[in-house]
Amino acid sequence: MVSDIKVEIFKGENGQGDFVAYEVPRLESQTVLDVVTYIQRKLDPALAYRFACRVGMCGSCAMMVNNRPRWTCRTHVEEVVKQGQLKIAPLRNLPHIRDLATDMAPFFDKMQKAGGCFVADATVPQHMLEIDPLSAARQEVDAGIECIGCAVCYAACDVAAWKADYVGPAALNRAWTLVKDERVADVNWYLKQVALDGGCTSCHTQGACSVHCPKSLNPSRSIAGLKQAMANAFLKGVL
Ligand code: SF4
Repeated sequence: MVSDIKVEIFKGENGQGDFVAYEVPRLESQTVLDVVTYIQRKLDPALAYRFACRVGMCGSCAMMVNNRPRWTCRTHVEEVVKQGQLKIAPLRNLPHIRDLATDMAPFFDKMQKAGGCFVADATVPQHMLEIDPLSAARQEVDAGIECIGCAVCYAACDVAAWKADYVGPAALNRAWTLVKDERVADVNWYLKQVALDGGCTSCHTQGACSVHCPKSLNPSRSIAGLKQAMANAFLKGVL
């Protein structure tokens, strides 16, 4: 017989609070999100947490599980349970709202600060149709555009933990996809956004973002690409 799981969940508001213990029946193919949902439905109806799709499409259920950021909907209990125990907390590096829910606004604000908006080259209206999906430039973009904005990489990043103005790996990964996108109007404008303080030069290349990204994206590589493109633009005198 498989015993219950001992689960500790952070409860509180605005960063104040403590871990509360629960016991949850262990089931086959059970995910961490199943555990949290069981607690909210059967043991503690006031528990605040966030989820939507349950299939790894929306990224809204990310939490710290045994001190590591993860999508809880795609994390099976058997992968992460340690001596029958789980410790679940809100995502690191983001303002705490209540229990397991964090405020994602700074994460998306930083994506905007890093120039995360596509601005097309209006002088070449047919350009979109001419992109070769097999070209090296397009494939470099394809490697980064699968980001769903879950903030797991941001929660894993130690620089984001101590440098409040660092825009973080997801924002820089997004910027890299735009710098490499042949359809954008002004590549140098994007490079200027990430050259600002808190941009790509703040990254210490520790690689936690790439290790933790549930989509196996490589923000570290994108950031290295940005640093190189920025240095080239600087040497050419366009930055
Ligand atoms: Fe999530 Fe990966 Fe995008 Fe970071 S790069 S926000 S971990 S999907």
